[in-house]
Amino acid sequence: MNECKKCNGRLAYTIFDRHADANISVDCWDCLSELNYKDNVSANLSRLLRNASPEKLAQLLSSYFVEKMHLEREGDLSRLENMIESKELNNVLALCSAYIG
Ligand SMILES: [Zn+2]
Repeated sequence: MNECKKCNGRLAYTIFDRHADANISVDCWDCLSELNYKDNVSANLSRLLRNASPEKLAQLLSSYFVEKMHLEREGDLSRLENMIESKELNNVLALCSAYIG
């Protein structure tokens, strides 16, 4: 997403309130509605993906995760390889979450 010119990604910005004679913070509805839009699309996609096979989902997630980790860690996948070797599913899922967000 491009950085918002109103709030710079902070989801709120300051305006001068003449009645209060002070600066006040207001929610940035441009960004909040964009977040809401993304949440809705994500929820709808999630509902649709429930019909896909676990094998297909695992393959898609693995490719994406390895690609992203390879890029961010400059080719070092050793931490992930160790977790795979010792079948640390929960740790792998936590690492996936950290990388994919
Ligand atoms: Zn904004």
